[in-house]
Amino acid sequence: ALIITDDCINCDVCEPECPNNAISQGEEIYVIDPDLCTECVGHYDEPQCQQVCPVDCIPLDPAHVESKDELMDKYKIITGEA
Ligand code: SF4
Repeated sequence: ALIITDDCINCDVCEPECPNNAISQGEEIYVIDPDLCTECVGHYDEPQCQQVCPVDCIPLDPAHVESKDELMDKYKIITGEA
């Protein structure tokens, strides 16, 4: 999964881009639900939020490192294909 760092300026451009609805407005900054983030695996070649974030504050989450296969499994569970 990806994570939004505290460099976030709350611009809101990433939230509508997430195909998994994993991004929401948190108490102080936007947050990613790691249970929903597939790093866009299953949808796109690149994480869409990273493409649009103006301050590049959405790196890989070191606490939620996953392989492509694991991300694809998560995608299938989320979409009901598993
Ligand atoms: Fe925050 Fe970046 Fe999302 Fe804007 S695009 S809300 S700066 S994480």
